[in-house]
Amino acid sequence: MATLKITDLHVDVETETGPKNILKGVNLTINSGEVHAIMGPNGSGKSTLAYTLAGHPKYTVTSGTVTLDGEDLLAMTVDQRARAGLFLAMQYPVEIPGVSVANFLRAARTAVDGKAPKLRTWIKEVDAALERQDLDDDFADRSVNEGFSGGEKKRHEMAQLELLHPKFAVLDETDSGLDIDALKVVSTGVNHYLEDKTRGVMLITHYTRILRYIHATQVHVFVDGRVAATGGPELGEQLEAEGYEKYVEAAKANA
Ligand code: ADP
Ligand code: MG
Ligand code: MG
Repeated sequence: MATLKITDLHVDVETETGPKNILKGVNLTINSGEVHAIMGPNGSGKSTLAYTLAGHPKYTVTSGTVTLDGEDLLAMTVDQRARAGLFLAMQYPVEIPGVSVANFLRAARTAVDGKAPKLRTWIKEVDAALERQDLDDDFADRSVNEGFSGGEKKRHEMAQLELLHPKFAVLDETDSGLDIDALKVVSTGVNHYLEDKTRGVMLITHYTRILRYIHATQVHVFVDGRVAATGGPELGEQLEAEGYEKYVEAAKANA
């Protein structure tokens, strides 16, 4: 079994006027087989948490720890994090002009495995992953994220998830901007990935809608840089009905 453990994590973001404290003591443990939905209002620090796990240079950990199977994730380079089994799908994926999807996926898989995949089986794997996401063969020849629709970006991420076989996937608003059909396809991708019970997911989202398609084992309300409440799927339903207001007010009262 694998475990991603975040303990009392404090993070500053670098701004034009100097560092600004965003994460204010995040505690979260995700085990294999679990899907943790992180839900919260805009600006609460959800993407900051994702970027910090990714090792983005703009984010400085001022205290706290993150371990992956007991290993210090924060001491690892971005490459090492991927090799250790962490996958991050960002809210705003970058365009890589001149790099085809096929070459990108192969380079990413080579980086994660430490060796290039065998060509014959690899091509079959890629075809299957793209097909599962309703992407046709031509898609593999396009430049990464260049001119992709919102839905295509997310489908591409789901293909990566399947082909890079990480232990833990952090999905930052994978559902935002998707129409209902694309949402179902993406959910199918995540659920397929989760058929292997040695894997886990941190599903960052603004909307409860995706929880109809992906079953969260835990739901966390994220407000003002920390986890304000934790529950099961029923908490997702409560948020759908009541919104975040109650938690935002409580966080203000405590600040
Ligand atoms: P969420 O993903 O929950 O919407 P973010 O992590 O994107 O929240 O942002 C949390 C807070 O950090 C916001 O107040 C945002 O304005 C601030 N922030 C994030 N990145 C930067 C940055 N590069 N410069 C200045 N402020 C930032
Ligand atoms: Mg946001
Ligand atoms: Mg965000």
